[in-house]
Amino acid sequence: MSRSDPTAPVIVWFRQDLRLKDNPALHHAVESGKPVIAVFVLDEASPDVRIFGAAQKWWLHHSLEQLKEALAKLNVQLLLLKGPAEAVIETLRIDTGADTIVWNRRYGAGEQAVDASIKQAFADRGLTARSFNGLLMHEPARVRTGSGTFYKVYTPFWRKFSAEAVVRSPLPAPAEIRPALHKAASDTLKDWALLPVSPDWSGGINAEWTPGELGAEQRLETFLNQNLGAYNEARDRPGPDRTSKLSPHLRFGEISPHTLWQACFDGRWAAEGLAREVWAKELVWREFSYHLLHNFPGLGESNFQNKFDGFPWRQDPEALRLWQTGQTGYPIVDAGMRQLWQTGWMHNRVRMIVGSFLVKHLMIDWREGERWFWDCLVDGDPASNTASWQWIAGTGADAAPYFRIFNPMMQGGRFDRTGEYVRQYVPELAALPDKHLHTPWEAPEQALLDAGIALGETYPLPMVDHKDARERALGALNSIK
Ligand SMILES: Cc1cc2nc3c(=O)[nH]c(=O)nc-3n(C[C@H](O)[C@H](O)[C@H](O)COP(=O)(O)OP(=O)(O)OC[C@H]3O[C@@H](n4cnc5c(N)ncnc54)[C@H](O)[C@@H]3O)c2cc1C
Repeated sequence: MSRSDPTAPVIVWFRQDLRLKDNPALHHAVESGKPVIAVFVLDEASPDVRIFGAAQKWWLHHSLEQLKEALAKLNVQLLLLKGPAEAVIETLRIDTGADTIVWNRRYGAGEQAVDASIKQAFADRGLTARSFNGLLMHEPARVRTGSGTFYKVYTPFWRKFSAEAVVRSPLPAPAEIRPALHKAASDTLKDWALLPVSPDWSGGINAEWTPGELGAEQRLETFLNQNLGAYNEARDRPGPDRTSKLSPHLRFGEISPHTLWQACFDGRWAAEGLAREVWAKELVWREFSYHLLHNFPGLGESNFQNKFDGFPWRQDPEALRLWQTGQTGYPIVDAGMRQLWQTGWMHNRVRMIVGSFLVKHLMIDWREGERWFWDCLVDGDPASNTASWQWIAGTGADAAPYFRIFNPMMQGGRFDRTGEYVRQYVPELAALPDKHLHTPWEAPEQALLDAGIALGETYPLPMVDHKDARERALGALNSIK
């Protein structure tokens, strides 16, 4: 079988790009005219390849279902194979006689090691393995400082990115695909048991999301019509949707960042330049997170600033449990943790508040928080989650300094002034007047009685005193200076 054999199939390996539109690898395969094999590999066996968290597995199941259906309409079967990717792809290559494989690049160190091995194995046999840029607007290695190093601070990264940004136009979905005839066996989604069964905790997630390429497009359209115009003013307020909520769709590549960039600057949608620029900057935060991950592959495990290696993190499983279950006694923190548990997502401002609370008020290692988020978030992202946790912990590259400790009462009062968010997720406080909502322990006894609240019984007292916790955290910071 030679490289130029037009009858030999090309394998399109779907990974973080579960879409047909603007999928460069798929586009290339279709353009080549070769018969196409589509595959997704569930790899829970290769070293250092990160296994999906539970909420992501729920998303993956539904997203693959959608992709399978979309490909089936083009007469292509999506093969579902499980195992270490290198061995799985090798078997598939032999079984089908494929002489080419294509994929869109991913950036975790373990994942890149797998991809490099497969590329090498294909090259050793005189076969073709080609990779494309589909996950990011720019390759993370491409954006460089004047002296050729990588960026550690966001603002200059943004300046460079926006000055140089030539984001390619999105590619169309293929109208036709030449399917390969083969007898390779496939698992079923049921075999992979990605959905929770006992207990099935996915009710709130089911009600909130529509995974898949169509769901992503609908979400984008709604955002552009309803929220882009006021994005710069409203994005920091949790409660009813004011941001795009596209993060899980981006995480699984159901829509490309190129498509979003183009939509952001499309004159058809009513929005001031500032609103567009503020949203574009968020899209570039995602690129920056991948830039950091690419240049600091240990981002998920090691403090970016190694002076934090000696930080006296506390081991306190009970405190961790209270934080995870939204029982800290700080309403905005509890609302956030419960939103996460119920819907698989949390508003960005509240992610910062709960993250700061864990790392500073409770002095629990940011990696515990990162892992909990990874398991609970439908958008749990290998770059954005780790970079953001290091940012909030003060251990990161361009981090909020450790001594900046979010005050949950002030944050709540400022960003959830009328309490719509806390009332939604902490219903036991719903009847409390606005002025006491973020500090129920300071409310007069009568106000609590009228609202049907018995502190310590129907809603917890604060698990730590804000002032004491703040001083303890600052003392710990001094110990590593
Ligand atoms: C502790 C912590 C953990 C986080 N973990 C994740 C994660 O696992 N996955 C994830 O996608 N985002 C994460 N973020 C970033 C951010 O909270 C989410 O991207 C955002 O809330 C998603 O909502 P949206 O789609 O409505 O965003 P929008 O406000 O509509 O922004 C559009 C897109 O820009 C990107 N974006 C926005 N803010 C950021 C940011 N600060 N960093 C990186 N990308 C950003 C996202 O892809 C988002 O979908 C985390 C933030 C914190 C503080």
